[in-house]
Amino acid sequence: MSDVKSDIEIARAASKRPILEIGSKLDIPQEHLLPYGHDKAKVSAEFIKSVADRADGNLILVTAVNPTPAGEGKTTTTVGLGDGLNAIGKKAMICIREASLGPNFGMKGGAAGGGYAQVVPMEDMNLHFTGDFHAITSAHSLLSAMIDNHIYWGNELEIDQRRISWRRVVDMNDRALRQITTSLGGVANGFPAEAGFDITVASEVMAILCLADDLADLQERLGNMIVAYRRDKSAVTCRDIKADGAMAVLLKDAIQPNLVQTLENNPAFVHGGPFANIAHGCNSVVATKTALKLADYVVTEAGFGADLGAEKFLNIKCRKAGLSPKAVVLVATVRALKMNGGVAKDALGTENVQAVKDGCANLGRHIENLKKFGVPVIVALNHFIKDTDAELQAAVDYARQAGAADALVARHWADGSKGITNVAEAVVKVCESGEANYKPLYPDEMSLFQKIETIAKEIYRADGVTADSKIRNQLKEWEEAGYGKLPVCMAKTQYSFSTDPSRRGAPTGFDIPIREVRISAGAGFIVVICGEVMTMPGLPRRPSAETIRLNEDGLIEGLF
Ligand code: ADP
Ligand code: MG
Repeated sequence: MSDVKSDIEIARAASKRPILEIGSKLDIPQEHLLPYGHDKAKVSAEFIKSVADRADGNLILVTAVNPTPAGEGKTTTTVGLGDGLNAIGKKAMICIREASLGPNFGMKGGAAGGGYAQVVPMEDMNLHFTGDFHAITSAHSLLSAMIDNHIYWGNELEIDQRRISWRRVVDMNDRALRQITTSLGGVANGFPAEAGFDITVASEVMAILCLADDLADLQERLGNMIVAYRRDKSAVTCRDIKADGAMAVLLKDAIQPNLVQTLENNPAFVHGGPFANIAHGCNSVVATKTALKLADYVVTEAGFGADLGAEKFLNIKCRKAGLSPKAVVLVATVRALKMNGGVAKDALGTENVQAVKDGCANLGRHIENLKKFGVPVIVALNHFIKDTDAELQAAVDYARQAGAADALVARHWADGSKGITNVAEAVVKVCESGEANYKPLYPDEMSLFQKIETIAKEIYRADGVTADSKIRNQLKEWEEAGYGKLPVCMAKTQYSFSTDPSRRGAPTGFDIPIREVRISAGAGFIVVICGEVMTMPGLPRRPSAETIRLNEDGLIEGLF
């Protein structure tokens, strides 16, 4: 199909408007837009403060069924729906995450949407953008350096060098750095110790930047981060190291949201990008809250499928930031449903209505789950060229009888806004109905273990949670230390409701085993690890970096 243009070809052909003009659509005065070139700008903290008393617009979350290698298109649908709402005359904007640099050089796959539903400039967005992630890397590294320096100069805080939990970060897929030895080479270089690197998006600084209300809150949270323990197991914080002030200085620009535009020249905030496993996987609270002051409809996205992404968005981000979503758009594709129904990836090209029906069990469970948060669900079937009418109809029929407020086929990838006005209309109808009554799934007061059990039983539909006494005792210790009211941040495979990635569909008859628990005291959640988590990815045998280059005209080739 040579007439199908690649994402980068479509993005490059976009007729972008100057970013100051996009800002004026939102009535942001020019002096409060801090341009990075002509097509990106940060919004000033002063302006953000000045709109704090305005009424909020309607918040809409885009999430998806369990991901499959077939791809679902959450970001594409988020961008498309924002354009669709604008197309039907609403003042709408979108909020999505920034891309991590490192993974772009491993496998292809951008973070700016796709087809005719993209955010531009997509190359910048997938590379250095406005430098936010570099600032996070620097702030994180400063603390690493200050911890070692503190020990070097006498270790007044009596840090147990075997118990330094603060690792290092870099925004590159580099498996060689996962576990390293630092301070080799003699007395002048300090005390040799085991250490290791994570990718920048896994830094707690990233999670904090995305949950903080403003710069003061950011600094407070940075100070609260636990970086090491003493021999008596008492915690040493970033505040004890006195790094919080300087880190906040390094982050003062990064905390301001980045304004860009969609292919249809509608405003978009692209800001922050925490991991979706050991962190909560959504764009920044500052961007979302500011957008709600500037637009009547704000469409945002959470990473992974609804069992992880939407659960964390609703239980962590909305609870902490006081947000109250009015609707959830649950993205499904015929291809993903077929894979959930047991079809292999190379057999997706043939019509198979029965497999769609079988895979709908996955969709149905997500609909039920999301309704437990009191928010109405609209199913958007992201249309792929090879989908057949019978397959699409089977999914639509199922979703409607499974309790979705509506279910519609969306063609934004191929057609832009005009392909998704149907979903936009349905969203407006649900928002105007006042039907939404958001509530988190569990109260702050519940014990940490019960919170984990609630998610495991209500969302994953597990029989129970298993954990050895070491883990249970750790949770109790944190409760005694005053961390009991924190929400829990689940880290498990995104491919299944269970912890076994091969169990697609709607599995039952399993337990959720907890392997490890960690505390992110600055971000404000307890991380619960159920299975492997990778915080420093590696590159594949043939990294896409091998084919990325600048052509004769100075244009980037091979990125997407
Ligand atoms: P997610 O946010 O769920 O990870 P994206 O929106 O980033 O997914 O989409 C992943 C990839 O799938 C992108 O390259 C995008 O162009 C492609 N894609 C999305 N929707 C469609 C579609 N309807 N048809 C063909 N390709 C699509
Ligand atoms: Mg995405």
